[in-house]
Amino acid sequence: MRWSETYIPTLREEPTEAEIISHKLLVRAGYIRKLAAGVYNYLPMMQRVLLKITRIVREEMDRAGAQEILMPVLHPAELWLATKRWEILGKELMKMKDRHLRDLVLGGTHEEVVTNLVRGELRSYRQLPLNLYQIQTKFRDEIRPRFGLMRSREFIMKDAYTFDADENGLKTSYQKMVDAYFRIFERCGLETKKVESDTGAMGGKAAHEFMVMVETDGGENVIFACDNCDYAANIEKAISIEPSEQESKEAEKPLQKVSTPNMKTVEEVTRFLNVPARKLVKTLLYKADGEVVAALIRGDRQINETKLKNSLEVIELEMADAVTVQRITEAQVGYAGPVGLKGVKLIGDKEVLNMTNFVTGANEDGFHLTDVNIDRDFKLDAVADIRSAAPGELCPKCEKGRLKTAQGIEVGNTFMLGTKYSEALNATFVDEHGQERFFIMGSYGVGITRTAQAAVEKFHDEAGIIWPVPIAPYLAEIVPVNIQDEKQREAALEIYHKMLDRNLEVLLDDRNERAGVKFNDADLIGIPLRITIGEKSLKEGKVEVKVRGSQATVSLRKDEVLEGFLKILSEIESTGKESTKT
Ligand SMILES: [Zn+2]
Repeated sequence: MRWSETYIPTLREEPTEAEIISHKLLVRAGYIRKLAAGVYNYLPMMQRVLLKITRIVREEMDRAGAQEILMPVLHPAELWLATKRWEILGKELMKMKDRHLRDLVLGGTHEEVVTNLVRGELRSYRQLPLNLYQIQTKFRDEIRPRFGLMRSREFIMKDAYTFDADENGLKTSYQKMVDAYFRIFERCGLETKKVESDTGAMGGKAAHEFMVMVETDGGENVIFACDNCDYAANIEKAISIEPSEQESKEAEKPLQKVSTPNMKTVEEVTRFLNVPARKLVKTLLYKADGEVVAALIRGDRQINETKLKNSLEVIELEMADAVTVQRITEAQVGYAGPVGLKGVKLIGDKEVLNMTNFVTGANEDGFHLTDVNIDRDFKLDAVADIRSAAPGELCPKCEKGRLKTAQGIEVGNTFMLGTKYSEALNATFVDEHGQERFFIMGSYGVGITRTAQAAVEKFHDEAGIIWPVPIAPYLAEIVPVNIQDEKQREAALEIYHKMLDRNLEVLLDDRNERAGVKFNDADLIGIPLRITIGEKSLKEGKVEVKVRGSQATVSLRKDEVLEGFLKILSEIESTGKESTKT
């Protein structure tokens, strides 16, 4: 392709709307343009990247025995009401009305539709397992779309759905998808980590996310990984073992009320009382499906709202507002405590169970209680793991290693759904004993547009993008230093046509621009190999080949450039991630 004939609107300036580097680079390098909040155009170069990722995904899904279909984007609301996800997903679900004022959904995932599709027609255990997938535009009404294609409202996804006769079948189907996912991302030039994740609104028994680990701010997911074994989980899911602290051995002291004027935060109170934060219990009030609950965790811990929500088995969870806190505790925010708190369910983090003689709010302005003890001073209605794991804690799997945090970008996910959707939509088959049974299902997603941006977040430098070879829009870019120089132009065209004859994807920068502009743009758009044709080397019958991301240039004879190019290409492909790592 000639630059003059395609559309690559590069920008000198950083786009103001972009916060993370990959988003900035995709806009600056002319790959994407925003149409509305969280809605993007994919320009010619981006479309080439997306088609390459799509092709890899398709090949690996087909190889795993999945069948490609295409389901509608527009769904009747009835299906979503039947599985209750109309309410569970709430405003995130893109809803609309047609001219007859019937409710419709713009699909963000297709569990309902695919279950409805097979219901009544996939009837025999002999037809199982079945894996159906599609590659399609999805919608999600993000409250705050940001980070370009990472948190957009419209995006491209591959989604697959498996139907099995029993749990063992699901395990086999699930493992096949996990294996396929590792191959997909590896073929895209991306190393991924598989981490345990919360099943969230998808429901089901187990779930995993595939993460591209990054060292930039673009990693929107915090994951915990063991430094000794393969345990890894995202922050919502990660659990840890806290070595018992012996505090339970302290003898119970008498409860006391102490004056803590204007001391409200954990830091203020513990400093004032001269106790460590671990001797205080925070009382956090939430509205869970409209009811007020109090969550108790140790002062130095972070509450994990996903875990809290799961343990309460509620759909909506939000911090109680100040008015509610004042009504319940009869005190200002900052003085809530479990002792004497009425009409509120008390849920304690399991760590709190081991604590004795701790500090809490007194439900009275300017006062706290010290030497509080569970059972003697108040009763817990429930105990659960409701805190986030912390770096340095013991791994729950090997019980030896320590947990370390890292930043990741989720590019794929897998869910063991079980019978959640088949039961809700009454989708059954007949087993070998003639019994009606619900399908055991799994669902599996790959974010196509997200994968593209994750690659940019992972592989770039100050000058621009450094595409992994397998998903680069072109393999090579030919840059004649001066297109008006006849010799340079002829040499450029000669190499260009030779490459086209060999079906090599090549971009020829035939613009009448200064060399500096063309070199800057070449670095910005990130094609793996640049072939520079300049006056000086051409006099010696040579051209220069440079690998994007490395400083080294190789001088090749013009008539040997094709062979030389292919050799370098296979070298950077085989060293893969190393050569493109920043
Ligand atoms: Zn471990």
